[in-house]
Amino acid sequence: MNAPRRGQPPQHWADLSPTQRRELVEAAGQRTYRARQLSAHYFEGLRDDPADWTDLPSGVRDQLATTFLPQLLKPVTTTQADAGTTVKTLWRLHDGALVESVLMRYPDRVTMCVSSQAGCGMACPFCATGQGGLQRNMSTAEIVEQVMDGARRLDRGEIAGGPARVSNVVFMGMGEPLANYKAVVGAVRQLTTPTPDGLGMSARGITVSTVGLVPRMQQLATEGIPVTLALSLHAPDDELRDELVPINTRWNVEEVVDAAWEYARVTKRRVSIEYILIRDINDQASRADLLAKVLRRRGNWGWVHVNLIPLNPTPGSKWTASRRRDEDEFVRRLEARGVPVTVRDTRGREIDGACGQLKATEVDAGV
Ligand code: SAH
Repeated sequence: MNAPRRGQPPQHWADLSPTQRRELVEAAGQRTYRARQLSAHYFEGLRDDPADWTDLPSGVRDQLATTFLPQLLKPVTTTQADAGTTVKTLWRLHDGALVESVLMRYPDRVTMCVSSQAGCGMACPFCATGQGGLQRNMSTAEIVEQVMDGARRLDRGEIAGGPARVSNVVFMGMGEPLANYKAVVGAVRQLTTPTPDGLGMSARGITVSTVGLVPRMQQLATEGIPVTLALSLHAPDDELRDELVPINTRWNVEEVVDAAWEYARVTKRRVSIEYILIRDINDQASRADLLAKVLRRRGNWGWVHVNLIPLNPTPGSKWTASRRRDEDEFVRRLEARGVPVTVRDTRGREIDGACGQLKATEVDAGV
């Protein structure tokens, strides 16, 4: 069953629902309960090596592994920073496409930043991924496997700080997650389904970040999986946002903020507004005031939190991060208007692993 499906990655255990797993295990001539055993190994025990499935006869192990756990991600390079607590991995997919994921360990949590597409079609001029265009959507299992790899490495104690679990997943790697809606929602379900059928993470620990694909934001609110939604706003006015986030010409500031507000109302989850600070482009005091106004127009009941991100450098970009005093003033003005705001602690800048720096080129792959 895992012969390549015309251009698509081979099907994997993490693409399947529990029912599909049982059916396919039976179709492969195995007893139905083997499905539960395999799930327990894969999601709960974090064991993807059939040699470790000691409760299964070896013939069964090999058959299940070959049929259901094809290797979807081949590690090309691993780069570390922050004394080994930030780890960026470059992966090669079955068709040669390259993507990256970043593991970030903090004292109280571990966040996996995952890619949802090889490349990205949104063409935001400040983001390295956007410069190369979209190659293809990733499958559910290709997304899930990025998290599982981090989970396995943490479990084996391979990440500085000793054994740990993945507590947070952010869809802030390469790609626009809501442009690959089905696979992304599928991945969120695999991650949040209780063990042994899924990884058993809390939806609260998962953040889906979007440029603002309004119909998909509305749809996400109806899925019954209360993930945190992050909206990459970056400008409070259409004139500037049309330039910074080109899809704004399709869904403008009013529409995306309305959709974010609606998401918060339906899911009771606070929405995060992402705002990169770019020197003299979007960091003026007047824009801070306008941002506060745009957000407060929907009422001030704590539906929103602004996350300011100092611009990370990308090759060929003429833009740079804001001056410290402009950043401080921007924060002060939002706070003065009662808008909760934090400045993001950026990790991985020196390994091109920070927000907007993932581009996964052949140069990175050393070929
Ligand atoms: N396509 C989605 C998710 C990927 S980007 C989105 O745009 O939301 C994740 C976050 O990194 C977004 O908020 C994005 O705007 C931000 N980002 C992109 N390039 C950046 C850069 N050069 N410096 C800082 N943040 C950047």
